[in-house]
Formats: sequence, structure tokens, C-alpha cells
Amino acid sequence: MTDSRRQYLIDTEPFYRPAGAEIAQFEAAWSRRLPVMLKGPTGCGKSRFVEHMAWRLGQPLITVACNEDVTASDLVGRYLLDADGTRWQDGPLTVAARIGAICYLDEIVEARQDTVVAIHPLTDHRRVLPLDKKGELVRAHPDFHLVISYNPGYQSLMKDLKQSTKQRFTALDFDYLPAEAEAAIVALEGGIEPALAARLVDVAAKARALKGHGLDEGASTRLLVYAAQLIATGMSPPDACAMAMVRPLTDDPDIRATLAHAIDLAL
Ligand code: ADP
Repeated sequence: MTDSRRQYLIDTEPFYRPAGAEIAQFEAAWSRRLPVMLKGPTGCGKSRFVEHMAWRLGQPLITVACNEDVTASDLVGRYLLDADGTRWQDGPLTVAARIGAICYLDEIVEARQDTVVAIHPLTDHRRVLPLDKKGELVRAHPDFHLVISYNPGYQSLMKDLKQSTKQRFTALDFDYLPAEAEAAIVALEGGIEPALAARLVDVAAKARALKGHGLDEGASTRLLVYAAQLIATGMSPPDACAMAMVRPLTDDPDIRATLAHAIDLAL
């Protein structure tokens, strides 16, 4: 294996607790190099799943966290000015296509539309990436694999993937795990007792019930793990919950009071 591939390999197994058949289904898609879309709310394990799959398949992983400032050039590459003049620098998508990595574009819907269109030629049978500014057509390495994440909850008319993009991907659904499994993750990743982790999951259930009734999103598994990690430092559970599971979610005083009440009851 070349050094360029080796530097993106994941050496130690990222802990991932499956919810269903997603590991086998991803492997099937990977075996045919079919692009995969991971759908689900933020902080429910999508990125962890990709890291786990890259490790399991022994493939390099290149991740790009997309936001509204990410342009096609950020993904594909650009000319840079240096002392000797101009120099082309491949973007992460181009690197992944050249070396044969799994390229994970996290929250692609956040990126500008020209960015989304840039991935299209890599998703069909041609598997090419045109570098227009450089006048080069990159043919994807046989092991190149494209994975994107998508949060259906943020979907709006202004920000949604076009059908022409969606219909280039296979998809897996993700959601928060059932309470017992989620508590096991929070206990393990946060370093707290399982019984306390279960109570944090109870609080999260209350917060998730407020989704659409004052909250855009309920508390994610990620925030539960944060709360657990704060508790493991010695912080009191109510303070940790306020810091990790209430304040990040909302500034609305009524909703904060409702959540504080749920924390009092559960802890
Ligand atoms: P997403 O990419 O969906 O926003 P992440 O993959 O970053 O979310 O998950 C956030 C955190 O939640 C992880 O760092 C991990 O601690 C925990 N987590 C969520 N789901 C799982 C799972 N199925 N197995 C292991 N850890 C998980």
C-alpha cells in the first residue's frame, strides 16, 4: 500500500454498536462501489459508523465536514500562489478519487449547490472527476467510494438535495438507538455507571418529545456522551445535564424550564 493511502487508514477499531443490518448492507454497497447516503438526525452515530466501516474494510477514509462556505474548489482543488508561481493543489475529493479512499461528505446539504453538482460525475458509471480549471479528467481509483450524510430534519425548500442528487445514492436510515442500547453506549463512551446513563437517556427522551414543540432537535447521543463525560470529571449530574443537554439546544426560557424540570425528576 502506498504512503498516500496509508496515512488515511484507521488503525484501531472505532467502537460501533449496530442497530440492525447496516454493516452487512454497507459492505454490499461497497462491494459494488455504490454511493451510500446515511440519513438521520445529528449525533446519532453516522460518522462513527463510517469510521467503523473504513476500519472493517481496511480502507482509507477522508472526511469533509461541509458547511455553507464549502465551495466546489474546496472539494476538488485549486491553484495556489507560491514563490515559484502557481501550483495546483488537489482537494480532499480529488485525493480520495486518486488514491482510492472512502470519501465521507458530512452534511453535504449545507454546502453550496455547485459543490453538490461536483460529485455527480463520480456517482455514475463513468466514475470520473473533471478538474475544469486544470483541464484534467481524473478517473476514480477502483477502491474510491463516496458516502454522504443527510439530516432529513433540517430539510427545507431552500436547503434540500435535489432529486437528481438523491437518486444517485443508495441509503441507510439512522436514528437514536433504543434506550437500553443507547445507555450502554453512553456508559461506555462517557465512563459512568450504566444506571446513571439510563437516567440520562430518560432525560433525552423528554427532550426528544419536544421536537417540533419548541425544539428543532432533541438531545443527540453525542450530547448524552458529553454529559456523561462531564459527570465523570466530578461535575454533579444536574449541572452536567444543563451544560450538555439544555443550553446547547435552546435559549427559550420556557423550554429550558421544562427541560430543567425533567432533569430534576430523572436525577
Ligand atoms: P453523527 O455523525 O450522526 O452526527 P456521530 O457518529 O459523531 O454522529 O456520533 C456522536 C457520538 O455518539 C459518537 O462519538 C459516539 O460516542 C456516540 N454514538 C452514537 N451512536 C453510536 C453507536 N451506534 N455506536 C457507538 N457510538 C455511538
